[in-house]
Amino acid sequence: MLSASESGVSVISAVATLRELLRAHRKQGHSIGFVPTMGALHAGHRQLMETARRECDVLVVSIFVNPLQFDRPDDLARYPRTFEADCALCQAAGVDLIFAPTAADLYPEEQKTFVDVPELTGNLCGAFRPGHFRGVATVVMKLFGIVQPDRAYFGQKDAQQLAVITRMVHDLNVPVTIIPVPTVREDDGLALSSRNKHLTEAERQIAPALYRALSTAAAQVASGERSAVIIRENALRVLHQHPELRIEYLEFVHPQMLQPIPEITGPVLIAIAAWLGSTRLIDNVLAAPDTTPDPPR
Ligand code: AMP
Repeated sequence: MLSASESGVSVISAVATLRELLRAHRKQGHSIGFVPTMGALHAGHRQLMETARRECDVLVVSIFVNPLQFDRPDDLARYPRTFEADCALCQAAGVDLIFAPTAADLYPEEQKTFVDVPELTGNLCGAFRPGHFRGVATVVMKLFGIVQPDRAYFGQKDAQQLAVITRMVHDLNVPVTIIPVPTVREDDGLALSSRNKHLTEAERQIAPALYRALSTAAAQVASGERSAVIIRENALRVLHQHPELRIEYLEFVHPQMLQPIPEITGPVLIAIAAWLGSTRLIDNVLAAPDTTPDPPR
């Protein structure tokens, strides 16, 4: 139940064991930081851990590929699993406890209770991945119940997930502070993702086009263009240079409520999902019209 990985960090699979350890910390007045992940850890996850490490006394990372949030069995089956390397990364990032339950640890009986945030999950990824956010919100709620963290860290990379979890915590009065962490990118702009491992060399060359298109759109928002339709067309032009990209959506939405913003007068989330071969990529940027006054002449 409690074991040390080859890299030395404590790995716990049983819910009761983790609860007991964390109870002792809480008694001593330690604050608990939590980073939920599905493993295949990279520098994006590490950024979450390092942010949490600076702000909390005890740092818990969960590694669990949650079957409930996969809408396609083939996606679940081929999700990358790199447990020993994950433990080494956690150790290097100063993680105290890795919670790595099996599906039987987390779902000993059939789950009968689910968390849904329908208003925030009807569009963007929610429209293409039925049940996905229900699975995410439900497992995160379970993990919050087990870990009872003071602060939990989520990447801006998964903007819809961040909005759903933030709203869930607000609506259900869950006593945890959600901390958003900016997206970590490769030098050419590609957002780090566990799924990037699936890209062929040729696809990897094309993938940064997503961020180029988002950056083009963000620059147009900043420069005062208000029409989402016009900005979208220009961004699509960038993407259409690569016929290999199959675009699922490119949307301009409210950063928290996620409803479409046709006329941009304030902050906007520009979000994209596209397929490259058999890999689905998502990315987003936050943009806002530049409201700094002109310098005096
Ligand atoms: P995952 O393991 O993909 O479920 O992601 C676990 C957490 O890491 C989520 O909060 C993600 O948003 C976050 N994350 C994934 N990729 C990145 C990235 N490139 N930059 C920042 N955070 C990320």
